[in-house]
Amino acid sequence: MNETLLKVEDLRTSFFTHLGEVKAIRGVSFSVRKGEAIGIVGESGSGKSVTSLSIMRLLQHPGKVTGGSIVFKDQEILKITEKEMRSIRGNEIAMIFQDPMTSLNPVFTVGNQIVESLRKHQKMSKEEAGKKAVDILKMVGIPDPAKRANNFPHEFSGGMRQRAMIAIALSCQPDLLIADEPTTALDVTIQAQILELMKSLNQKLDMSTILITHDLGVVADVCSRIIVMYGGLIMEEGSKEDIFYRPRHPYTMGLLKSIPKINNEKQRLIPITGTPPDLLNPPSGCPFYARCKYAMVICRTKQPPYFEVDEGHRTMCWLLHPEAPGNADYEAQQGGVRSEAGRQ
Ligand code: SF4
Repeated sequence: MNETLLKVEDLRTSFFTHLGEVKAIRGVSFSVRKGEAIGIVGESGSGKSVTSLSIMRLLQHPGKVTGGSIVFKDQEILKITEKEMRSIRGNEIAMIFQDPMTSLNPVFTVGNQIVESLRKHQKMSKEEAGKKAVDILKMVGIPDPAKRANNFPHEFSGGMRQRAMIAIALSCQPDLLIADEPTTALDVTIQAQILELMKSLNQKLDMSTILITHDLGVVADVCSRIIVMYGGLIMEEGSKEDIFYRPRHPYTMGLLKSIPKINNEKQRLIPITGTPPDLLNPPSGCPFYARCKYAMVICRTKQPPYFEVDEGHRTMCWLLHPEAPGNADYEAQQGGVRSEAGRQ
């Protein structure tokens, strides 16, 4: 699974509003390997959804990619024609959204919509596609799939609709599935079922997945690698274990303290106070400066570079600079590991 499927480099996306240029993404780089499931996590306005819409070339006016590169299977997505992009969107990259009703067509049965997708993308006969549609509905856990294929979307519950949406996305056998907040509108039990489904499909179909969410808890079970975004930049990237057990960026640490943990009744949840930066006038220094309790003078004026904490684990924070003044509280949060990685 070392083959790179998607490589995003120095991506920059802005919205040209009447108030000026809102720099929603300010230089984002990451890659997704074949069969890998990654999570992109961040608050609303962090740039996570704009990143996925930029990859899909689905940005609406006044949004525009202003720089960087997006290479999917050795093809520069930003340079191909709209027709070529439509073919990639239908056949190789699929996307599912928070509200399936915005993507499902209310006037066609669920089975019909899968059949149409199969016939369009896989050139199947109507009969073949009908059989395959039932198989796909079964695979995504729809009970009595032959019968339910004849139902309209409004006859499905919220969780079933999201399963139907995943079924349509899978009908083109994509190499990459991008799921943007797929479980936010669902209750906790159904959410767990959909996440379990996504995890098993990722493993079974060897399909890469990008799961976009504001909730770190959601990516824990599905993704092996996590990217934490803030203010249009990646603050930290690492394996699931790095992010959950060895976080180095104060923002990631704050996010972790704001999610409830199972079996910890006495846990006090600590929200991150303050508001995200104004991307109409992005800060010249660290975007988290105004909310960071460890902020130093340099943080206000100079954006930190990425510091490699460990292989595959990087973070954008001046505290990792070898000559940064020590911060006892921060080091205590690290359990003393800072000396190993940051200040040899
Ligand atoms: Fe806080 Fe400075 Fe690190 Fe930003 S660079 S997260 S302000 S310590």
